[in-house]
Amino acid sequence: MPELPEVETIVQHLRTCGIIGKSIEKVSVLSADCIASGSPTRFKKLAAGARIKHISRRGKWISLSLDAGTILVHLRMSGSLRVLGEDEELDPYDRLVLELTGGKRLAFRDIRKFGRAYLVQDPEEVLGNLGPEPMSGELTEKSFHEMLTTRQRQLKPLLMDQTFLAGMGNIYTDEALWEARLHPARRSELISPTESRRLFLSIRKVLEAGIRNQGTSLGDGLANYISAQGEPGRNQIHLKAYGREGLPCPRCKTPIEKIVVNQRGTHFCPTCQQLR
Ligand SMILES: [Zn+2]
Repeated sequence: MPELPEVETIVQHLRTCGIIGKSIEKVSVLSADCIASGSPTRFKKLAAGARIKHISRRGKWISLSLDAGTILVHLRMSGSLRVLGEDEELDPYDRLVLELTGGKRLAFRDIRKFGRAYLVQDPEEVLGNLGPEPMSGELTEKSFHEMLTTRQRQLKPLLMDQTFLAGMGNIYTDEALWEARLHPARRSELISPTESRRLFLSIRKVLEAGIRNQGTSLGDGLANYISAQGEPGRNQIHLKAYGREGLPCPRCKTPIEKIVVNQRGTHFCPTCQQLR
């Protein structure tokens, strides 16, 4: 599933594709289930004629601000957004296509059909209960420690809870906990200021690396993450824990183990990340 670095990579690319400032001439809803705010007819009516003012990211959401409302897209398991030229063909997995002035099209493609698009007047209707952005100035070492200690949760599910922190999923949570040398099942209320500082810096480190490497692509199936340019990411070769079950921990050489924490497969080093 695309997480913050993958979505950020897509957004950064979309900004360079020459679609900002263009108007939506026609909306094709090829799969009605992908529209989550009202009917496809309403979506088409509201979007048609609107101009794309800017493109941004909040957590794992892509936001296209229009001069009339905002389109919010969540890619979920296998969604992607790409910009097609006039002579490029759609594929069978394209669910929603926006035809823009000037001939380009923005296509929302989704093999597993969990992705969703909303068109809302106020983005807060959808994004209102998200936690802070992990890399924004609104999150500080001090506020993060307070956030952890006022929850009574295991670290892994807490970090993945979008109302706690927006943007982390399975991959970057395992990586951040490995980096911070914290066991995924540690209790958040018992984290010391030193540990919470380490986790705060580790989260930023793994997310920044993910963005720098243009996301993580695992395997080569069609459902895998690809950028808006149709390229896989390069972060998978830098992973230290996620997906490395049985391989040596890059820090201490102990084989990485896979356990289940709160129903999620979780990779960690039993030597570096001890549950005290
Ligand atoms: Zn280790």
